[in-house]
Amino acid sequence: MNTGKREIPYPVRLDLARTPTPLEPLSRLSEKFGIDMHVKRDDLTGTDLTGNKIRKLEFLLADGLANRCDTVITCGAAQSNHARATAIAAARLGLGVRLLLRTRDPANPPPIAGNILLDRLVGAEIVWLTFEEYGRRAEMLGAEAESLRNSGKTPYIIPEGGSNAMGAWGYVRAVEELAFDLSILPGAKDHPTTIIHATGSGGTTAGLILGVKLLGLNARVVGINVCNDRNYFLQVVGDICQTAIDTYQLDLAFSRERDIEIVDGYVGSGYGKAGSKELSLIREVARSEGIILDPVYTGKAFYGMSQELERNPEVFGDRIVFIHTGGLFGLFPMAEQMAPLL
Ligand SMILES: *Cc1c(COP(=O)(O)O)cnc(C)c1O
Repeated sequence: MNTGKREIPYPVRLDLARTPTPLEPLSRLSEKFGIDMHVKRDDLTGTDLTGNKIRKLEFLLADGLANRCDTVITCGAAQSNHARATAIAAARLGLGVRLLLRTRDPANPPPIAGNILLDRLVGAEIVWLTFEEYGRRAEMLGAEAESLRNSGKTPYIIPEGGSNAMGAWGYVRAVEELAFDLSILPGAKDHPTTIIHATGSGGTTAGLILGVKLLGLNARVVGINVCNDRNYFLQVVGDICQTAIDTYQLDLAFSRERDIEIVDGYVGSGYGKAGSKELSLIREVARSEGIILDPVYTGKAFYGMSQELERNPEVFGDRIVFIHTGGLFGLFPMAEQMAPLL
């Protein structure tokens, strides 16, 4: 599927995700907004390994194994999809896993539900952190690694969301799939496309930006942030892209100002909290397209995209690809909140 324009210098990768994932039309919504809308089904990368994190983990865990690790350490929110994907992938590889998860009161951790149920099922050790400790997560991950080394283990640290230069390769590879998907749609081969997705820790956005450049795809990458703000992600995404360019000596022109597009304003009442607007949108998409979005990431990003389109149907051009980055298990702990809408 290489364009032949240039060799992409992929690092070593494990085969953990069910790829390529399908690109499917959103027929009713395309009609509603009068543009061509598709969804890249990265929620279908696996049943338990659903979502975007497994694409990053293919590269990160390959790197961990190359470094002879026997235990993986990572961190995230209590219902982290990344932590769950890491725990399951580690179990599949016969590695130990320790998760540093944040919660309001570590003495009273959240119930075993959703992603936490799966973390527990595959035997992940969970260390509960306060929000204050989580703010110092790099230090906490380092201390955890140190204590594992002291007990004779070889740990491998994966940062929040798997978002670093190594993890970003997962989305370079996704762009390669997308380039093929788009090439077989009717119409001109290089018809401009806007790739829209949820931005949570920045690695997916960074990988998509790098992938579009490496593949020479005629596409604009738009991230809709579900936490923090635009300035935060200009910094984080910019740093991941720049580190990847330097580390892998990528021959491409990158400008933070020109290349990173973050649409802010859809965090709502905070990370992990969904209000009735977002939950209603999840219901609408479920009923009109049979696509199940999650309340933490894809529901918010899709809501943001729809709001922008309602304001100006031309804002993203006439062809959109929404990346469904997964997150299904985050829906179940929200059953009570969702029930009045059903
Ligand atoms: C983590 C996550 C995202 C955000 O991806 P980042 O690379 O962390 O920005 C989007 N959707 C889902 C379902 C996720 O779990």
